[in-house]
Amino acid sequence: MSIVVQKFGGTSVADSTRIKNVANAVIREYNNGNQVVVVVSAMGKTTDYLVKLAGELAENPNHREMDMLLSTGEQVSIALLSMAIQAAGCPAISLLASQIGIITEGVHTKARILDIKTDKMKKHLDEGKIIVAAGFQGVTTDGEITTLGRGGSDTTAVALAAALKADRCDIYTDVDAIYTADPRQVPAASRLDTISYSEMLELARVGAKVLHPRSVETAKQYNVPLRLRSSFNLDDPGTLVIGDDKMEIYRPVTGVAADLKQVRIAVLRVPDQPGIAAKIFSSLAADNISVDMIIQSLEEGNLNNIAFTVNDSDLKGAINVLERVKLDINAGEVVVDGNIAKVSLVGAGMVDRPGIAAGMFEAMAEAGINIKMIATSEIKISCLVDKDQAEEAIRSIHRKFDLDAKVEMQK
Ligand code: ADP
Ligand code: ASP
Ligand code: MG
Repeated sequence: MSIVVQKFGGTSVADSTRIKNVANAVIREYNNGNQVVVVVSAMGKTTDYLVKLAGELAENPNHREMDMLLSTGEQVSIALLSMAIQAAGCPAISLLASQIGIITEGVHTKARILDIKTDKMKKHLDEGKIIVAAGFQGVTTDGEITTLGRGGSDTTAVALAAALKADRCDIYTDVDAIYTADPRQVPAASRLDTISYSEMLELARVGAKVLHPRSVETAKQYNVPLRLRSSFNLDDPGTLVIGDDKMEIYRPVTGVAADLKQVRIAVLRVPDQPGIAAKIFSSLAADNISVDMIIQSLEEGNLNNIAFTVNDSDLKGAINVLERVKLDINAGEVVVDGNIAKVSLVGAGMVDRPGIAAGMFEAMAEAGINIKMIATSEIKISCLVDKDQAEEAIRSIHRKFDLDAKVEMQK
């Protein structure tokens, strides 16, 4: 008997009609003779609403309490889906992360999974039940509730699939496939039948929220057969995310993405001495704040400016750290620019091909867009631009690299 893990996102369980549709999709897999574990997110925009509520009560809400609050969204949706499946005549049981044993580290609001217990799930599956598991949440060995970071239900699904050695992990969402760009931002985006783990991982890391980066990381590590598909058209095969070794030819470029959730922070007039950058960045790391693009520029004499980007959810934490560190290192003021976005071009085949970066900069020039920072890795080039120019930038890059859908090919 095959084990299938399915995951449905917030839009797919936004109201009772949609929950019934999900119940049907789950029962379809069950009636095909599979053991089914279904992971769900909170209904619709519940998590956003809870974040907003917290913000109305505290400027910088306590991270432990945020996890207590945000994990409630998934408790509602698993109970409702389980009821819907039972009402349709199939045995089902809803389980929280603490009931399954999804053990995480204790870093609230962005915990990583350390271990998943499978005994209880296997018992329920062997008794013929469908398991409805809460996405996004975990529990520490001390019994503290944690969450995996926004969009983390994808990671729950893939991690459960890896732990159960599932035959398939299907992520159902509100688009029918992975595209060369977010089809909402670039209407000409093309569908991809397959994408490698590495390419998808990079796209997810630079802002393509169609899959949570850590879900792809986990799928790659444990070779989980991962498919992205539409919850509104169950017969559409969607996109298969496959092992890098299975790709026959690497495309020079696979896709583009914009990350609108970055902010740029600059620490001005930093003394030009050994150990200063280490002090700034190790203090941020100690507070679990990840830094992305970094640039150091000469201000005057032996003073530098150090600028870098962080996720906007880390802004308040980063400012707290930097206000403290700046006194320690005798630096000038800390300045924030929230009006920025990071646009990136990804492709596993760009390594050996010169001219890709030049092409990206030409696309920006043709669109009259100023580049504020640049960063590159083996399979990615990222540029920081003004937020209101981000969409134009990715459309222009998309056109430049001939990624626009060829209408005649769709006939
Ligand atoms: P869910 O709630 O199901 O997890 P998300 O909103 O997190 O859904 O992710 C699906 C969304 O991802 C789509 O609606 C689409 O706008 C966006 N998206 C971003 N980049 C891409 C891409 N390259 N291909 C497809 N969808 C993308
Ligand atoms: N409900 C959580 C969120 O909105 C987790 C998820 O949807 O994957 O971020
Ligand atoms: Mg998502």
